Amino acid sequence: MCDTIAPGAIGFRNDTGNVAPLYSQIGTSWEGRPIWAEHWGPEDGPQVLVLGQVHGDECAPAWFVQAIREQPPTTFGIWLVATANPDGLAAHTRRTAQGIDLNRDGFRWETPEAQAVMDLTAQVRPVLTIHVHSPYEWIGAHNGGLARDVAQAMNDAVGFRGVYNAGTVDNGDLAFLWEGQELVLPGHPSVLIEFPAVADAESPAPPDPSQKTVTSVDDVAWLAVRMRDALYDVMGEP
Ligand SMILES: [Zn+2]
Repeated sequence: MCDTIAPGAIGFRNDTGNVAPLYSQIGTSWEGRPIWAEHWGPEDGPQVLVLGQVHGDECAPAWFVQAIREQPPTTFGIWLVATANPDGLAAHTRRTAQGIDLNRDGFRWETPEAQAVMDLTAQVRPVLTIHVHSPYEWIGAHNGGLARDVAQAMNDAVGFRGVYNAGTVDNGDLAFLWEGQELVLPGHPSVLIEFPAVADAESPAPPDPSQKTVTSVDDVAWLAVRMRDALYDVMGEP
Protein backbone atom coordinates (compact mmCIF):
# COMPACT_ATOMS: atom_id res chain seq x y z
CA MET A 1 0.00 0.00 0.00
CA CYS A 2 2.75 2.48 0.85
CA ASP A 3 4.27 1.89 -2.59
CA THR A 4 0.96 2.53 -4.40
CA ILE A 5 -0.71 5.12 -2.20
CA ALA A 6 0.08 8.08 -4.47
CA PRO A 7 1.66 8.61 -7.89
CA GLY A 8 5.41 8.45 -7.38
CA ALA A 9 5.16 6.62 -4.07
CA ILE A 10 8.16 4.46 -3.28
CA GLY A 11 7.27 2.41 -0.23
CA PHE A 12 10.12 1.35 2.00
CA ARG A 13 12.07 -0.81 -0.42
CA ASN A 14 15.52 0.34 -1.46
CA ASP A 15 15.49 1.39 -5.09
CA THR A 16 18.37 3.87 -4.86
CA GLY A 17 20.97 1.52 -6.34
CA ASN A 18 23.07 1.88 -3.17
CA VAL A 19 23.53 -1.26 -1.13
CA ALA A 20 24.12 -1.07 2.62
CA PRO A 21 27.47 -2.68 3.47
CA LEU A 22 25.95 -4.39 6.48
CA TYR A 23 22.50 -5.84 7.17
CA SER A 24 21.33 -7.34 10.41
CA GLN A 25 18.05 -9.04 11.22
CA ILE A 26 17.17 -7.53 14.58
CA GLY A 27 13.99 -9.47 15.21
CA THR A 28 10.94 -11.19 13.78
CA SER A 29 7.45 -9.70 13.66
CA TRP A 30 4.36 -11.29 15.19
CA GLU A 31 3.48 -12.82 11.81
CA GLY A 32 7.02 -13.99 11.18
CA ARG A 33 8.40 -11.27 8.94
CA PRO A 34 12.05 -10.33 9.45
CA ILE A 35 12.80 -6.91 10.92
CA TRP A 36 15.94 -5.58 9.27
CA ALA A 37 18.43 -2.95 10.24
CA GLU A 38 20.84 -1.74 7.60
CA HIS A 39 24.03 0.05 8.49
CA TRP A 40 25.44 3.03 6.60
CA GLY A 41 28.66 4.94 7.19
CA PRO A 42 31.50 4.09 9.57
CA GLU A 43 30.98 1.37 12.16
CA ASP A 44 33.30 3.15 14.58
CA GLY A 45 32.42 6.40 16.27
CA PRO A 46 28.99 7.87 16.93
CA GLN A 47 25.97 5.94 15.69
CA VAL A 48 22.49 7.31 15.04
CA LEU A 49 19.46 5.02 15.05
CA VAL A 50 16.66 5.85 12.61
CA LEU A 51 13.27 4.15 13.04
CA GLY A 52 11.88 4.80 9.58
CA GLN A 53 8.40 3.44 10.17
CA VAL A 54 6.62 2.47 13.37
CA HIS A 55 2.96 2.74 12.26
CA GLY A 56 2.24 0.61 9.22
CA ASP A 57 -0.16 3.03 7.55
CA GLU A 58 2.30 5.94 7.59
CA CYS A 59 3.99 6.19 4.22
CA ALA A 60 5.61 9.65 4.11
CA PRO A 61 8.46 8.44 6.38
CA ALA A 62 9.67 6.35 3.42
CA TRP A 63 11.17 9.48 1.89
CA PHE A 64 13.44 10.04 4.89
CA VAL A 65 14.61 6.44 4.57
CA GLN A 66 15.19 7.01 0.86
CA ALA A 67 17.14 10.23 1.51
CA ILE A 68 19.60 8.42 3.79
CA ARG A 69 20.11 5.58 1.32
CA GLU A 70 20.64 8.05 -1.51
CA GLN A 71 23.37 9.88 0.36
CA PRO A 72 24.69 7.89 3.29
CA PRO A 73 26.89 9.57 5.91
CA THR A 74 30.67 9.22 5.71
CA THR A 75 31.78 10.48 9.14
CA PHE A 76 29.28 8.80 11.47
CA GLY A 77 27.15 5.67 11.36
CA ILE A 78 23.43 5.25 10.84
CA TRP A 79 21.52 2.14 11.83
CA LEU A 80 18.45 2.38 9.63
CA VAL A 81 15.34 0.33 10.39
CA ALA A 82 13.21 1.06 7.33
CA THR A 83 10.17 -0.41 9.05
CA ALA A 84 9.92 -1.72 12.58
CA ASN A 85 6.36 -2.88 11.82
CA PRO A 86 6.49 -5.02 8.67
CA ASP A 87 3.12 -6.66 9.41
CA GLY A 88 1.42 -3.27 9.68
CA LEU A 89 3.15 -2.15 6.50
CA ALA A 90 1.87 -5.23 4.65
CA ALA A 91 -1.69 -4.76 5.92
CA HIS A 92 -1.66 -0.92 5.88
CA THR A 93 -2.65 -0.77 9.52
CA ARG A 94 -1.40 1.51 12.27
CA ARG A 95 -1.12 -1.32 14.77
CA THR A 96 0.96 -4.45 14.63
CA ALA A 97 -0.62 -7.76 13.63
CA GLN A 98 -0.92 -8.38 17.37
CA GLY A 99 -3.33 -5.45 17.54
CA ILE A 100 -0.93 -3.31 19.57
CA ASP A 101 0.16 0.26 18.90
CA LEU A 102 3.92 -0.23 18.73
CA ASN A 103 4.58 3.36 19.75
CA ARG A 104 2.75 2.78 23.03
CA ASP A 105 4.71 -0.37 23.85
CA GLY A 106 7.79 1.42 25.14
CA PHE A 107 7.59 0.02 28.67
CA ARG A 108 5.76 -3.28 28.31
CA TRP A 109 7.65 -4.74 25.35
CA GLU A 110 4.65 -6.98 24.66
CA THR A 111 5.43 -6.94 20.96
CA PRO A 112 8.40 -8.65 19.33
CA GLU A 113 8.79 -5.42 17.37
CA ALA A 114 9.39 -3.30 20.51
CA GLN A 115 11.71 -5.97 21.85
CA ALA A 116 13.73 -5.76 18.62
CA VAL A 117 14.01 -1.96 18.92
CA MET A 118 15.18 -2.22 22.52
CA ASP A 119 17.67 -4.99 21.73
CA LEU A 120 19.15 -2.91 18.92
CA THR A 121 19.31 0.13 21.20
CA ALA A 122 21.23 -1.89 23.78
CA GLN A 123 23.53 -3.38 21.16
CA VAL A 124 24.57 -0.26 19.23
CA ARG A 125 24.12 2.37 21.97
CA PRO A 126 23.17 5.19 19.61
CA VAL A 127 23.96 8.80 20.52
CA LEU A 128 20.54 9.75 19.10
CA THR A 129 17.41 8.03 17.83
CA ILE A 130 15.19 9.57 15.15
CA HIS A 131 11.59 8.33 15.21
CA VAL A 132 9.84 9.02 11.91
CA HIS A 133 6.06 9.38 11.70
CA SER A 134 3.27 11.23 9.85
CA PRO A 135 0.85 13.06 9.24
CA TYR A 136 1.03 15.98 11.70
CA GLU A 137 3.80 18.13 10.22
CA TRP A 138 5.90 18.95 13.25
CA ILE A 139 9.23 18.13 14.81
CA GLY A 140 9.80 17.26 18.45
CA ALA A 141 12.70 16.62 20.79
CA HIS A 142 12.77 14.25 23.74
CA ASN A 143 15.53 15.24 26.15
CA GLY A 144 17.96 18.05 25.34
CA GLY A 145 21.46 18.13 23.97
CA LEU A 146 21.79 16.47 20.59
CA ALA A 147 18.04 15.91 20.26
CA ARG A 148 17.33 19.60 20.73
CA ASP A 149 20.13 20.61 18.33
CA VAL A 150 19.03 18.25 15.56
CA ALA A 151 15.34 19.03 15.96
CA GLN A 152 16.02 22.76 15.85
CA ALA A 153 18.23 22.44 12.76
CA MET A 154 15.60 20.33 11.00
CA ASN A 155 12.84 22.76 11.91
CA ASP A 156 14.88 25.71 10.67
CA ALA A 157 15.62 23.87 7.42
CA VAL A 158 11.97 23.16 6.60
CA GLY A 159 10.18 26.10 8.24
CA PHE A 160 7.83 24.17 10.49
CA ARG A 161 6.22 25.86 13.51
CA GLY A 162 9.05 25.42 16.00
CA VAL A 163 10.38 22.52 18.01
CA TYR A 164 7.84 20.78 20.20
CA ASN A 165 8.34 18.50 23.15
CA ALA A 166 8.08 14.82 22.25
CA GLY A 167 6.71 13.87 25.60
CA THR A 168 5.34 10.97 27.55
CA VAL A 169 2.11 8.97 27.23
CA ASP A 170 1.04 9.54 30.86
CA ASN A 171 -1.46 6.69 30.68
CA GLY A 172 -0.85 3.74 32.96
CA ASP A 173 2.15 1.73 31.93
CA LEU A 174 1.91 2.73 28.29
CA ALA A 175 4.93 4.60 26.94
CA PHE A 176 6.35 5.83 23.68
CA LEU A 177 9.29 3.92 22.27
CA TRP A 178 11.59 6.85 23.06
CA GLU A 179 10.56 6.59 26.71
CA GLY A 180 11.29 2.88 26.63
CA GLN A 181 14.74 3.45 25.21
CA GLU A 182 15.56 5.42 28.35
CA LEU A 183 15.24 2.17 30.30
CA VAL A 184 18.13 0.94 28.17
CA LEU A 185 20.09 4.19 27.87
CA PRO A 186 19.15 6.65 30.63
CA GLY A 187 18.64 10.18 29.33
CA HIS A 188 18.79 8.98 25.72
CA PRO A 189 17.97 11.86 23.32
CA SER A 190 15.37 11.29 20.60
CA VAL A 191 13.96 13.35 17.75
CA LEU A 192 10.40 12.87 16.52
CA ILE A 193 9.68 13.79 12.92
CA GLU A 194 6.02 14.08 11.92
CA PHE A 195 5.88 14.46 8.15
CA PRO A 196 2.74 15.60 6.40
CA ALA A 197 0.99 12.69 4.69
CA VAL A 198 1.33 12.04 0.96
CA ALA A 199 -2.25 10.81 0.56
CA ASP A 200 -5.61 10.73 2.33
CA ALA A 201 -5.30 6.96 2.58
CA GLU A 202 -2.29 7.41 4.83
CA SER A 203 -3.09 7.22 8.53
CA PRO A 204 -6.86 6.96 8.02
CA ALA A 205 -7.53 6.98 11.78
CA PRO A 206 -4.97 9.18 13.50
CA PRO A 207 -5.67 10.25 17.07
CA ASP A 208 -6.64 13.75 16.04
CA PRO A 209 -7.71 13.79 12.37
CA SER A 210 -8.37 17.51 12.44
CA GLN A 211 -4.64 18.12 12.71
CA LYS A 212 -3.74 15.90 9.75
CA THR A 213 -1.84 17.54 6.92
CA VAL A 214 -1.69 16.12 3.39
CA THR A 215 0.73 17.29 0.74
CA SER A 216 2.40 15.99 -2.41
CA VAL A 217 5.06 13.35 -2.88
CA ASP A 218 7.41 16.04 -4.19
CA ASP A 219 6.91 18.15 -1.06
CA VAL A 220 7.65 15.27 1.26
CA ALA A 221 10.72 14.27 -0.75
CA TRP A 222 12.02 17.85 -0.47
CA LEU A 223 11.36 17.97 3.28
CA ALA A 224 13.15 14.66 3.77
CA VAL A 225 16.30 15.81 2.00
CA ARG A 226 16.36 19.08 3.94
CA MET A 227 15.95 17.23 7.24
CA ARG A 228 18.66 14.72 6.34
CA ASP A 229 21.05 17.53 5.47
CA ALA A 230 20.24 19.31 8.73
CA LEU A 231 21.06 16.11 10.64
CA TYR A 232 24.32 15.76 8.75
CA ASP A 233 25.26 19.38 9.49
CA VAL A 234 24.79 18.93 13.22
CA MET A 235 26.75 15.66 13.13
CA GLY A 236 29.66 17.45 11.42
CA GLU A 237 29.30 15.72 8.08
CA PRO A 238 31.29 17.74 5.51
ZN1 LIG B 1 2.94 7.34 13.79
